[in-house]
Amino acid sequence: MDCIFCKIIQGEIPSVKVYEDDKVFAFMDINPLSSGHTLVIPRTHAENIFEISEQDATAVIKAVKMLSTAIKKGIQADGINILQLNGKAAGQLVPHLHVHIIPRWIGDGITISHWPMKAGDMKEIAGAAEKIKAEL
Ligand code: AMP
Ligand code: ZN
Repeated sequence: MDCIFCKIIQGEIPSVKVYEDDKVFAFMDINPLSSGHTLVIPRTHAENIFEISEQDATAVIKAVKMLSTAIKKGIQADGINILQLNGKAAGQLVPHLHVHIIPRWIGDGITISHWPMKAGDMKEIAGAAEKIKAEL
C-alpha cells in the first residue's frame, strides 16, 4: 500500500521513533508545532476514526495517555493538546489515522486551542443533538 505512515512502520521511510508495541507506533512529527510534537498511529492501516477497529482505537488512546505523561515530564510542558483530524474537510493530510500530541506552554502564542467563540442558536444546537442521538 502506498501509505507514507505504513512505510514508516515498515522502516522503509526513516522516522524518529519514541515508542512501539504490537498495535501502536509513535514518532516525532517532522513539522513540529512545538518541541516534542509526537504522532501516535495504529500499526494496522486505517484511514480515519470511522475505519479503525475498536481494539486499535483503544490501543492508540492508551498509548496517547502514556506518551502524554512522558512528553509533559520529558519536555517540561505546561500542558498538552491532543488533536486528531478525519477527512480532507477537517484538514487531514495523511490518510492513515494519527493522533497529534502537542506540548504547550503558558504564553507560547499557539492559537489552535481557541476559536472565535460566538453564542450558538439553541434551536440549531438541540436539533443537531437530536440528529446525532437518532444514529446511536
Ligand atoms: P494531518 O494529516 O493534517 O493531521 O497532519 C499530518 C502530519 O504528519 C503533519 O503534522 C506532518 O508534519 C506529519 N508528517 C508527514 N510526513 C511525515 C514524516 N515522514 N515523518 C513525520 N511526520 C510526518
Ligand atoms: Zn497506512
